Amino acid sequence: MTDLLRIEIADDSLFGPENLPYGVFAPAAGDFRAGVRIGDSVVDLAVLLDDSTFAQPTLNAFLAQGPGRWREVRDRVRDGVTGEITAAAVHSVDSVRLKLPVTIGDYVDFYASIDHATNLGRLLRPDGEPLLPNWRHLPVGYHGRSGTVVVSGTEIARPTGQRRTPSGTPDFGPTKRLDIEAELGFVIGVGSELGERIPTEEFAEHVFGVALVNDWSARDIQGWEYQPLGPFLGKSFATSMAAWVTPLAALREARVPLPGQDPEPLPYLRERESWGLDLDLAVRWNGELVATPPYRRMYWSPAQMLAHLTVNGASTRPGDLYASGTISGPERDQRGSFMELSWGGSESVAVNGEKRTFLEDGDEVVITATAPGADGRRIGLGEVGGRILPAR
Ligand code: MN
Repeated sequence: MTDLLRIEIADDSLFGPENLPYGVFAPAAGDFRAGVRIGDSVVDLAVLLDDSTFAQPTLNAFLAQGPGRWREVRDRVRDGVTGEITAAAVHSVDSVRLKLPVTIGDYVDFYASIDHATNLGRLLRPDGEPLLPNWRHLPVGYHGRSGTVVVSGTEIARPTGQRRTPSGTPDFGPTKRLDIEAELGFVIGVGSELGERIPTEEFAEHVFGVALVNDWSARDIQGWEYQPLGPFLGKSFATSMAAWVTPLAALREARVPLPGQDPEPLPYLRERESWGLDLDLAVRWNGELVATPPYRRMYWSPAQMLAHLTVNGASTRPGDLYASGTISGPERDQRGSFMELSWGGSESVAVNGEKRTFLEDGDEVVITATAPGADGRRIGLGEVGGRILPAR
């Protein structure tokens, strides 16, 4: 006989049946497998759907099956979790271990916030134009290091390297300017062949969903090494990603027009229907809320970023990740990096009564986000958090 139960979901839960993010979890005794979060529970999809696609420690095979299958599974899961469900499929979210939900072949990081790019331009080039001439013509980005993308909760050792000093010559040691970047990541489901482009209108045929990202950054290492080829060791030591991928289907109510683009981008970057998203992020530093970056302010949309990423024929694969770049708004408390919040280290940030600029050993940063859901409710994204360990 099978034990049946009903999953209790609080009315104000950010993980109600209109959300249903996917992750990879292991029960207290068992192997990693795919699950969906509902309320404070995780539902084992291999058990619920009796489908071995979900008995793997990665979502890649499911993501590769494409949008028709994503819709079918989402409908079946919604029916399954709101009715009577076999108890063997249900675990408390507090009782499971979580790992990176996808196997990431390639990782790209963009720079799509005009407020962030303007702030950084003012800090790095105080005598020049804040935005470089290309910025309004293309979504600026760089290829990151997929092998060091880690799941939320992974501890981050302070990186060591060549640090820029005021004298103009470097010294060597643990970074003194360890920072965060609050970002939104986009997970590719259906890839594209070498030589093929993904037009903006095919965004939702390829991208499965979103996950919060923290692009840890060592500003003194970055500031010395980044010219002329861009970010390298100041970024590649670790990038944290939420354990839960929220499908685009859950973000229907969050779609908004972009704030506006001037000049109008080249034809391959134009959108018929905008993929602006109305997400509110919250950055907590040792528990204290220090910033609330608004995603709706982003200049470039994720469909434009993907069109640009592939316009030269670069291929993509299931599980590939590209992130938005730091999300900042025009207000001081909307800045998604400590470089901006502390204005290059010149202004302190109050954290539990202490004056701080960059991260200290033992500090913890947790980024959360919510978005409009159906019927005036809100949905939550899985958090991305991490604690800083001393340099090795
Ligand atoms: Mn970044």
